[in-house]
Amino acid sequence: MKQIAFVSGKGGTGKSTLVSSLSILVKDKMIADCDVEAPNLHIILKGNILNKEDYYGAKGAIIDLSKCVECGQCRETCRFKAISEEFNVIRLKCEGCGACTLVCPKDAIRLENVKTGETYVSNTDRGTYSYALLDIGAEGSGKLVTEVRKKVNEYKDNEKWILIDGTPGIGCVVIASITGADAVVAVSEPTKSGISDLQRVLGVAEHFQLPSFVCINKYDLNLEVTNEIEKYCKDRNIPVIGKIPFDPSIIKALQDFKTPIEAGNTRITEEITNIWSTLEKEMAKIGQF
Ligand code: SF4
Ligand code: SF4
Repeated sequence: MKQIAFVSGKGGTGKSTLVSSLSILVKDKMIADCDVEAPNLHIILKGNILNKEDYYGAKGAIIDLSKCVECGQCRETCRFKAISEEFNVIRLKCEGCGACTLVCPKDAIRLENVKTGETYVSNTDRGTYSYALLDIGAEGSGKLVTEVRKKVNEYKDNEKWILIDGTPGIGCVVIASITGADAVVAVSEPTKSGISDLQRVLGVAEHFQLPSFVCINKYDLNLEVTNEIEKYCKDRNIPVIGKIPFDPSIIKALQDFKTPIEAGNTRITEEITNIWSTLEKEMAKIGQF
């Protein structure tokens, strides 16, 4: 089984649109939505839930009011203003730093694990699909991304591929998205900030010595910057495996919760089909098949 992580230096580059399209075109695969801050594939991928588990991704303070003598030291200490005048912990403000537990003279405060979301595995018509939904105010983490990837692996059944929709950026959530992957596909747009974002995310992949490939979305909106991206990739021996043209009908399709494939856009379908076959060929060249 080969794991392909689709990443981008920032959100909105079309990464998830590419992954959701590939979820139709690629046979014999599983899908992991590791964009835990803003998952959206579950809107498109419908199926029966095989597994749902609460996820405890943070620590939070609990005050035992039966022990509390209302001295106020915890409130003075908490720089997040997470303790109310009634000495209750305001869950959305508590960062779980533990400072309040250190100053309480009555040992009335303890830290406990706090539920921050749920993980899901679904059986969809496009294959087994793993994702997570965070509770309001909760933050994603590399640990949650790892959990989403772990869950999809628990259901593998000799599939050939796992398509990972990675978290945008370069932080620990991205590292968790690409660690152990067989290849990284960075999706970029032809803007000046797009180049800089691409360079950063490719830098992360290079650091982990992962084979990288690039896909340029809406390439025809700025051919000069597209050329710049291609030159940057050529100089570093990073194959550009596809260039997707700008097409307003893609936006319309997404508004209807459809991929460009489902919307019947033959031009984009052809391009994305080529992207996958080029990726397979490039991976064969580097001995990944
Ligand atoms: S754990 Fe930290 S953030 Fe939470 S209430 Fe205590 S001092 Fe405030
Ligand atoms: S420090 Fe302890 S005893 Fe004092 S107000 Fe806070 S919980 Fe109550």
